[in-house]
Amino acid sequence: MKIISKTLRLSAFFILFSTLFSSCADGRTAMLVFNPQETELEPGLTSEITLTAIFVDTDSEPKILSTDIQKPGKAHLKQFTDPPVITVSNPGLKILSAEPVVSGTGIKAGIIILASKELISGSSGTITANWGNCSAETALKIKKNPLSCIDSDGVVTDPAAYDVLVNKQRRMPADYVPPDLVRVEVPTILSFDEVNHLRQAASDALNEMFAAARTEKGYELLARSGYRSYKTQVMLYDLNVREYGEEQAARISAQPGTSEHMTGLAMDISSPEVNYQLTKAFGETEQGLWVAANAHRFGFIIRYPEGKEDITGYDYEPWHLRWLGPELAEEIYTRNLTFEEYFLN
Ligand SMILES: [Zn+2]
Repeated sequence: MKIISKTLRLSAFFILFSTLFSSCADGRTAMLVFNPQETELEPGLTSEITLTAIFVDTDSEPKILSTDIQKPGKAHLKQFTDPPVITVSNPGLKILSAEPVVSGTGIKAGIIILASKELISGSSGTITANWGNCSAETALKIKKNPLSCIDSDGVVTDPAAYDVLVNKQRRMPADYVPPDLVRVEVPTILSFDEVNHLRQAASDALNEMFAAARTEKGYELLARSGYRSYKTQVMLYDLNVREYGEEQAARISAQPGTSEHMTGLAMDISSPEVNYQLTKAFGETEQGLWVAANAHRFGFIIRYPEGKEDITGYDYEPWHLRWLGPELAEEIYTRNLTFEEYFLN
């Protein structure tokens, strides 16, 4: 009876710990465990992860020495006289401290890790610990908290970040101009040249996506409206006020600063099939369907999807693409979220 219960206890222990990325395959003499297994980190902030190393007796059947409070044999301790070597895969993640406390039964280390302010949501990294013949890994995921990136007037404080969240409640600063605007290399539609600009990374990605549409499917896509300066937004808004009056203008057009186009990371696209216009019908064309299914490969999302109007504050716009980089776009696409929902889930 006693043997069975002990075996069951040990099995349960090993099942639990083997799911925690601890690996110590041959000549098992210790186990390494990170807790938690996955950590979400906010750029600019620190987080603490615990690494526990436990000696295991390998003389006969595995025995967990730390839980049984038995002393490990001297042979077990030999290869573990040095503390675990802890490394991190992403240069934007820095270990501030990792002070191991060694006891007779194992080691416990509280690891303080700092995520650089420059890291964008959706990027990731791993911490690896090597100790004797054991190693363990834990995953780190970066996710910004939009509430930390807005001032009391509703103006975002991270306008140049690739993952900046702009909507009707979160305006861009009036004086912001993207630092690396370039004229897009893809075919354009409008002669007002400001709209034919994007930030460098978004422009490169758009170029790649249009080339893929052409070579994979023979589709012709065109860029219609990209960067929109604050000045242009004011001009458009005033035009609507003169035409329709203040109240109606507020309903049909965006308040200056609230257009995502001001980031230089959004582009409205079209095709000959819908006569180069921005229309919901684009979403039903072969070209629009291909864009919806493939944009994430190039780091873009359909920013205002159908059925999510209450969340985004905008009608369905199959033509409006927002560049977020491939990691973040992929996650938002596969989880079928809007950019707003991503931060809440
Ligand atoms: Zn748009």
